[in-house]
Amino acid sequence: MAAFSRTASLLCKNAVRSESLGKLNNFCTSARGSKSYQLVVVGSGAGGAAIAARFSSKLGKGKVAIIEPSDAHYNQAMWTLVGGGIVKLEDTYRPMASIIPSTCDWIKDRATTFKPDTCTVSTQGGEEIKYEYLVVAVGLQLRYEDIKGLTEGLEMDPMLVSNYSAKYVTRTINAIDKFKGGQAVFTLPNTPIKCPGAPQKIMYLAESKWKKNGVKKSSTITYNTAMGVMLGAPKYAEVLRGVCEKRGIQVNFKTNLVEVNPEKKEAVFMKLETGETYVQPYDFMHVTPPMSTPTELKSSPLVNAGGFLTVDKYTLQHSQYPNVFGIGDCTDVPTPKTAAAVASQCGIVAENLAAVMKGGTLTRKYDGYTACPLVTSYNTCIMAEFAFEGVPMETFPIDQGKERQSMYWVKLHILPRVYNLMTKGWWSGPAPVRKIFHLGLSKQE
Ligand SMILES: Cc1cc2nc3c(=O)[nH]c(=O)nc-3n(C[C@H](O)[C@H](O)[C@H](O)COP(=O)(O)OP(=O)(O)OC[C@H]3O[C@@H](n4cnc5c(N)ncnc54)[C@H](O)[C@@H]3O)c2cc1C
Repeated sequence: MAAFSRTASLLCKNAVRSESLGKLNNFCTSARGSKSYQLVVVGSGAGGAAIAARFSSKLGKGKVAIIEPSDAHYNQAMWTLVGGGIVKLEDTYRPMASIIPSTCDWIKDRATTFKPDTCTVSTQGGEEIKYEYLVVAVGLQLRYEDIKGLTEGLEMDPMLVSNYSAKYVTRTINAIDKFKGGQAVFTLPNTPIKCPGAPQKIMYLAESKWKKNGVKKSSTITYNTAMGVMLGAPKYAEVLRGVCEKRGIQVNFKTNLVEVNPEKKEAVFMKLETGETYVQPYDFMHVTPPMSTPTELKSSPLVNAGGFLTVDKYTLQHSQYPNVFGIGDCTDVPTPKTAAAVASQCGIVAENLAAVMKGGTLTRKYDGYTACPLVTSYNTCIMAEFAFEGVPMETFPIDQGKERQSMYWVKLHILPRVYNLMTKGWWSGPAPVRKIFHLGLSKQE
C-alpha cells in the first residue's frame, strides 16, 4: 500500500508538472481514497452551490460531492438590508440541505488538508476524499479576533455592531434606532473583504434614519477606510465621494482599526501612511472585520503568499494544477469579491471545467465583472457594475452612477431572486440582459 501511495504520488506530481491532463486523469481516476468522485466541490456557499448544481445534473448521481460543514446557507448579500432593518435574517437563510442538489453527495464535514499531488482532500472527520476534478469555493473567514478588544466589545457593547456575521447582524438596527447623537464611526479594514461597498452602505442607511429622526444634528459621522478611494472603480468612487460631502460625512482614507476599548467607548486607528495611531471616541460604531481565506486553504500548496487560491484570472483554472478550478471570494482574481462576481465566474468555470473534462481547450474568459448595489438610503441605490480595472459594465441603458429609486427596487426585489437562481445553476450573470437592453450594440461579452 505504501509503495502504491509513493508511486501514485510521484505519478500525480509528474502528471501535474508536465501539465498533461491525460496522465493526470489516468492517475486521478485510478487512485484510491475512502470515497472517490469525478468532481469534488469544497464549500457550498454562493459559488460552490452553483457549480455543484450544474455538474450534478450533468454528470449524474454519485459523481459529484460537496464538502461543507455548515447546516445553514445564507444569502449574505442581503445582510446590509438586515442591518438596516429592511428584511429579517430569516429571509436570507436556507437550510443547507435544500441548497445541495439531490444528485450530489453531501460530505458534511470540514476540508482540512488539500493534497493536489495525490488528488485528495482530507476532512476533519478523518475521511480521504478522492477527486478527478476539484473546485475550491471556501469563501473568506471573518477575523474579529485580530482587532484587540473587538470580540469582547461585540459581546458587551450594544452600540458596537457588525453586519458581517449572522451572529451580530440583527443587532445593527437596534443600535441605529437607539443612537441619540454623538460620534458615529464606520470602518473598512486593510485586508481584502467580501463586498467592499457594504461598509459604507450601512452608513448611508444609518445617516438617512438619523436625518429623519433629528439625531443627525447632534452627530458626527466618520468613515474610516483603509482604502485610498471610496470604491475600486473611479466612476462610482467619485460619485460616492460626492454623496459623503453632500451629507457631511467625514471620510478618513488609509486608516485602519487596530483596537477597541468598549469600556471607555474608544477605538484606536492607525494612519497607514505614517504608522501613527490615534484615539477615536465613539457612541455608535459599525465594524467590518479583517478577513482571510480559511486556515485550511491558507496552509495548502494551492495558494499565493497572501493565502489566496492562485487561478488564471481569465479561465479560473488553477495556475499549477489543471484539474483544479476556483470560484468566488477565496481566489486571487483581482476584482472586488461579491456574489455578483461569483455568478459571472460560475458560467466561466462551468464551461472551462467541462472542456477540461472532455480533453478540450479552455475557451471562456472571465472579464472581471462584479457589481455593488450601493444602497444610499431607504429608497435609493447606485448600481455599480464594472469589470477588471474598474471599467464600468452597466446592465441598464441608463447612467447607473446616479442615486436611483429604480435601482433600490432591483436590489430589494430582483437580486435576492437572482441569487436563488444562481445557487440552482440557472444564472451566470447579466450579460444576456445587458445585450438586450443595449439592443445588441454592447461590445461587452
Ligand atoms: C454584509 C455583506 C454584504 C454583502 N453585500 C453584497 C451585495 O450587495 N452584492 C453582492 O454581490 N455580494 C455581496 N456580499 C458578498 C457575497 O455574499 C460574497 O461575495 C459571496 O457569498 C461569496 O461566495 P463564495 O461562494 O465565494 O463564499 P461563501 O458564500 O462565503 O461560501 C463559502 C462556503 O465555504 C464553506 N467553507 C469554508 N471553509 C471550509 C472548509 N474548510 N471546508 C468546507 N467548506 C468550507 C463555508 O461554510 C461556506 O458555506 C456581501 C457580503 C456581506 C457579508
